[in-house]
Amino acid sequence: LSKEKGKNMFSFYNAELNKNMMRKMDIENHLVKAMELHQLSLCYQPKVNLKTQEIVGMEALLRWKHPEMGWISPAEFIPVAEETGQIVSIGKWVLEEACRQNKLWQDQGLPSLKVSVNVSVLQFQNGKFIKTVKSILRDTQLPPQFLELEITESIMQNIAESTEVLEQLGKLGVKTSIDDFGTGYSSLHVLQKLPIDTLKIDKAFIDELEQNCKQPMVKAIIDLALNLGLNIVAEGIESANQMESLIEMGCPIGQGYLFSRPIDSLEFEKLIGLSTITLETKAKQPAVSS
Ligand code: C2E
Ligand code: MG
Ligand code: MG
Ligand code: MG
Repeated sequence: LSKEKGKNMFSFYNAELNKNMMRKMDIENHLVKAMELHQLSLCYQPKVNLKTQEIVGMEALLRWKHPEMGWISPAEFIPVAEETGQIVSIGKWVLEEACRQNKLWQDQGLPSLKVSVNVSVLQFQNGKFIKTVKSILRDTQLPPQFLELEITESIMQNIAESTEVLEQLGKLGVKTSIDDFGTGYSSLHVLQKLPIDTLKIDKAFIDELEQNCKQPMVKAIIDLALNLGLNIVAEGIESANQMESLIEMGCPIGQGYLFSRPIDSLEFEKLIGLSTITLETKAKQPAVSS
């Protein structure tokens, strides 16, 4: 009997594996055409001054809608694109689109904001990255200080090369930020030498912030950044309690569903027209009783 059960478990496991593999292959095959078929788009999520709720920038986030498979999360397709190397051309498209859109908003007389673009390590270390950034800035005419690149801690596995690229970006006037900080493997010794502008505390730490309860790691990361002369941004803020704790701990900038979900360019344009996010109107989402 138990042998029979074991066999069933095995085929169940096998079926699951198979399903995952098929899905991955589907994604891989369809992603090849996604760009030329105009299935990719960017949405934008505001970064706000936590004290005033003023919008100080935005993160561009990639979206993919396939006609049959529907919306596919970047958390699912970016790793596939990294495996196949397609991330290099996709990432270039993202950079172009974000710079083009930001320049367009500036030309329309909207407040000048910094757009943050996520860059995969593969893209960053591909040898042509600086050349690509330069030519995109030239083509779009976006002043470099309005572009920020979000890179993860994994770049530290190749310190010499990464430092060189970061230095060149700095010379160009482009801003740089370490995304999801605190989740990866990074040595503090290396961190202090990296020519970067900002640390972005990962959402996992923000999740642990509870009412009237300090999360020692969050405070430590904020102090670390400030002591190193870096800017600090908190990601994934969902509640007013989290926001208040962050303000109390000295974090100036944040991003999260509390302020706005990532929204398409038309919606974002309306939002920056207002320049400040009113949390009262956002409180349509389940209001916290006080
Ligand atoms: P990330 O760069 O850390 O982006 C933050 C993610 O958290 C986004 O998910 C955003 O929609 C989500 N988020 C923001 N605020 C909240 C919140 O309050 N609560 C919750 N639960 N989530 C929040 P998204 O758009 O699904 O992107 C996932 C990841 O995919 C990104 O994480 C980034 O690593 C990657 N990614 C997205 N776009 C690009 C891109 O253009 N290039 C590359 N290389 N990676 C990208
Ligand atoms: Mg990011
Ligand atoms: Mg992040
Ligand atoms: Mg994250």
